[in-house]
Amino acid sequence: MTPPPAGSHAAHAYLDHAATTPVRPEVLAAMAEAMAEAGNASSVHGPGRLARSRLEAARRAVAERVAVAADRVVFTSGGTEANHLALLGLIGPRLVSAIEHASVLEAVPEATRVPVDAAGRLDLAALAGLLRGHRPAVVSVMLANNETGVIQPVAEAARLAHAHGSLLHCDAVQAFTKLPFTLAGLGADLLTVSAHKIGGPPGIGALVLRDGLEVVPLQRGGGQELRRRAGTENLPGIVGFSRALGLATDWERVRRLRDRTEAAARALHPAAIVVGGGADRLPNVVCLLTPGLSAEVQLMALDLAGVAVSSGAACSSGKVGPSHVLAAMGFTPELARCTIRVSLGWSSTAADVKRFADAWGTLLARRSGRAASPVPA
Ligand code: PLP
Repeated sequence: MTPPPAGSHAAHAYLDHAATTPVRPEVLAAMAEAMAEAGNASSVHGPGRLARSRLEAARRAVAERVAVAADRVVFTSGGTEANHLALLGLIGPRLVSAIEHASVLEAVPEATRVPVDAAGRLDLAALAGLLRGHRPAVVSVMLANNETGVIQPVAEAARLAHAHGSLLHCDAVQAFTKLPFTLAGLGADLLTVSAHKIGGPPGIGALVLRDGLEVVPLQRGGGQELRRRAGTENLPGIVGFSRALGLATDWERVRRLRDRTEAAARALHPAAIVVGGGADRLPNVVCLLTPGLSAEVQLMALDLAGVAVSSGAACSSGKVGPSHVLAAMGFTPELARCTIRVSLGWSSTAADVKRFADAWGTLLARRSGRAASPVPA
């Protein structure tokens, strides 16, 4: 059987890019080439030297993207490990925003959580107050939230942290390549990125460290990654990561598709709420709350209709649990349970949006006993 071409998703309208992006065909080709080559980057023979040169070229590509020197980039097994390395590799009380990804929250369960406002933005006044009582701290604030897409005031948080002698770590996994930023521009001391949200493969990411800052390694037993992370490097993944970085996405096109998705949802059901809709957001995420219509019912109906979306944060568990992000924004558990995330990306098309709108409209009509009306998607 011939597999469908990468990114085509013949069976589904794939609208779950915030969970993981389809791997771009150019990335698959580059990874296949890298996989076909023998060679450990630590070996001194020719194949080893070739592997080393591919590894270092990829490191430079990641470093250039956030304007740091190449030796400030540590490849990890993904965003989760990079977040752990940042938060467990430094000493000090931790202050983390209440809407961080589970890989931050559960890495440091004892951390003090900094609240967000009703729009899902970090409460800077609360952070300032907490910094006065916890110094010098390690503060962790994501650049954009994975459930709502709401962009966080990282540069302001970094200024506050530094004014109190503290460090700032930023999980930029969702924002990477969708927003232009550099490590220095954010004022961050540490930055997490991951390949599988940008058209690269899962299982590879990086922690970026500002000049002069080091972390205590989590993995020891080899000199790799400048002694910061032991273990033979995932070269095919690293090559795929850097290839994905070299591929442009027209985010304005994606934003227009996102806006169409929202307009179609509002037209079908005026009571539906775009969570975080009033705040600056990523161009690709719609967090859609439909009072009275559970995410489970929506996910199942959409899946049956060939449309892949997520509930709030079910990035890894596959089950619909309560969203700590919506809770932090003040939504009741009942409302939070009625939220789905539609997320677009490089492979999304107007046909995907129409398929979503048609399927969602059919579900609403079925529930209200009316016939579905045509959707302006
Ligand atoms: N941080 C955020 C904001 C994420 O959305 C994710 C994945 O969903 C991660 C971290 C974890 O990254 P990875 O899947 O590469 O471990």
